[in-house]
Amino acid sequence: MKIAILSRKRSLYSTNALVEAGKAAGHDMQVINPLRCYMNIASHHPTIHYKGEDLSDVDAVIPRIGASITFYGTAVVRQFEMMGTYCLNESVAITRSRDKLRSLQLLSRKGIGLPVTGFANSTKFTDDLIEMVGGAPLVVKLLEGTQGIGVVLAENNQAAKSVIEAFQGVKANILVQEYIKDAKGRDIRCLVIGGKVVASMQRQAAPGEFRSNLHRGGSASTIKITPEERSTAVRAAKIMGLNVCGVDLLRTNHGPVVMEVNSSPGLEGIETVTGKSLSGKIIDFIEKNAKPGKTGTRGK
Ligand code: ADP
Ligand code: GLU
Repeated sequence: MKIAILSRKRSLYSTNALVEAGKAAGHDMQVINPLRCYMNIASHHPTIHYKGEDLSDVDAVIPRIGASITFYGTAVVRQFEMMGTYCLNESVAITRSRDKLRSLQLLSRKGIGLPVTGFANSTKFTDDLIEMVGGAPLVVKLLEGTQGIGVVLAENNQAAKSVIEAFQGVKANILVQEYIKDAKGRDIRCLVIGGKVVASMQRQAAPGEFRSNLHRGGSASTIKITPEERSTAVRAAKIMGLNVCGVDLLRTNHGPVVMEVNSSPGLEGIETVTGKSLSGKIIDFIEKNAKPGKTGTRGK
């Protein structure tokens, strides 16, 4: 098969791991920078070109769209869908997962456990908003943040109010969330491929830090997840409509709560910790599922 990885850099761990796994399985792997793709969108015969080359013979696309290029990156994925090319994760699902508010609303509607979460656009009733989510300690999050940047712990109501007002003052969209103390600076990343949790790891925040992101100095280790955690991760992936994703959970004394679902989960930490070739599993999934015209939405 000819498989295109939409990624800005061949040298990124996950991109490289997917290239190598694909080659090992005998596929023709190509890394394509989505920002360098150009396309004819108003044609009966939609096309994408890259460095002068027509990409209509690609059999499957693996989107690895970074948060900073979501807009153009998902447009390229959508164009492949319009051409009938199989995309591992569809454009709508990627866009959905990038918006934390939208994702949490969808998950909540289907009864997935979530931290108590509030949202407001105006600074007028911040006190009431704080009360609505149960008061400090609270976590305030930038809606489109990633890698733990823009996630702030406010220990008391006064601090919470200042942080909320500061973010709103610069017109940033934020979520205000109950601080899950039980988690003790740990979270669980489940990697879901094709409706199954194929690997999971625990991440522990560095001393003095509550954010367990590896990018924030967190450390990863193996963990045995409970059947409830497993089914929560699988359901969350299904609700988001993602074939491949990382589901981040916190363990609470009333079961797992989902923090976020990541459509381009990093493979380095989880492959290293588990010793599994997860890139290989992604290629296996594509081999079994990639068929022309199989995209559910056709870019809708
Ligand atoms: P990002 O998408 O930037 O990684 P997250 O929402 O996943 O943002 O938050 C980053 C980290 O902060 C999480 O991995 C978790 O360790 C910690 N965290 C986030 N929300 C909460 C919360 N409500 N309670 C406790 N810890 C939290
Ligand atoms: N790969 C990063 C992670 O798993 C985030 C990329 C994204 O925004 O999807 O934490």
